[in-house]
Amino acid sequence: MTDTTAPASDAPSNAAAFEVRPNQAPLSVEARDEALADLKFGTQFTDHMARAQWVSGEGWGDRRVEAYGPLQLDPAAAVLHYAQEIFEGLKAYRWADGSVHLFRPQANAERFNRSAHRLALPQLPVEDFIGSIEALVAVDEAWVPGVEESSLYLRPYMFASEAFLGVRPAHVIDYLLIASPVGPYFAGGVKPVSIWVAQGYHRSGPGGTGDAKCGGNYAASLLPQQQAYENGCQQVLFLDAKDDRYLEELGGMNVFVVRADGTIETPRLTGTILEGITRYSVIQLLEDDGRKVVEKDITLDEVRTGIESGDIAEVFACGTAAVVTPVGRLASPSFDVTINGGEPGDVTMGIRTRLTDIQYGRAEDVYGWMRRIA
Ligand SMILES: *Cc1c(COP(=O)(O)O)cnc(C)c1O
Repeated sequence: MTDTTAPASDAPSNAAAFEVRPNQAPLSVEARDEALADLKFGTQFTDHMARAQWVSGEGWGDRRVEAYGPLQLDPAAAVLHYAQEIFEGLKAYRWADGSVHLFRPQANAERFNRSAHRLALPQLPVEDFIGSIEALVAVDEAWVPGVEESSLYLRPYMFASEAFLGVRPAHVIDYLLIASPVGPYFAGGVKPVSIWVAQGYHRSGPGGTGDAKCGGNYAASLLPQQQAYENGCQQVLFLDAKDDRYLEELGGMNVFVVRADGTIETPRLTGTILEGITRYSVIQLLEDDGRKVVEKDITLDEVRTGIESGDIAEVFACGTAAVVTPVGRLASPSFDVTINGGEPGDVTMGIRTRLTDIQYGRAEDVYGWMRRIA
């Protein structure tokens, strides 16, 4: 295992092991430029994808980069029946000088393997994880957008492709990496989101898969997410399954509260919360900035009363896709409270700028978090 605290530039890579079979019909330069001029989240994909396959008793092989396109999958593929699947999400950032960089990719590689362990999937060597990204970005570099706050979103994933309806860990596993150019998450400036407290549903429970990044967790979050929409909110906040009173996280983002005295709190990791890389990067940046950050159990009750009394000044969520997102409203059937007048708070926007300045090379990377890949 590599050390997440080591500089990202030291993470091993075997990009050369991925055989490149160029797409014979890539998008024209004009069509690509048009796509890059109108970026949405996760709708447009680059000309290639990377892949590898694992077979029980043989290990990983078939590493290649090939044309992006539909998969051939047996209808009995185990993933379609039993959801043996995990994924990751990270971004490649283009700096002003034209170079391209990843943010802490070995942390994603390590988390991928922790998720793989929980889902009884094979370990993917860190050098394959990083190698696949370097090999893909090398052929699709022109797809890394250059406009402000845009990036190339990378989605590595692994799933049970064996055609077998019996219930056991599959013997054939596919690893894939696809890439999607994305624009600023908030077109037209950062806007606070409204959050609905999930009612009667939990995204994970003790001993479940809450700390693994697997599609199944997301499947379980979609119905409460739909109820959030029906109640005029964009996101859902999940409480713990055991006591139904402690904050856990949003469907795909970790959550922080900022007290009026400047102290920052976030739910401690209990095994039911996904350990976000943005989460612990934010904790480190805040602490190094001289702020007090406390990881603890936080009840919904204290958050609601804290917002009402003014003791809680800001709430924000964080994750790779949206970076740091202010929360302007928290609602449930029994209350509906506005945070900081529904405006983004100073601590929230400060940490957002601090983090994105490192990611886009506008501030010195004293942590060695960035890895140059082009
Ligand atoms: C991916 C994810 C996050 C955020 O993790 P980052 O590493 O910061 O992108 C938070 N919660 C869930 C459930 C996630 O899947």
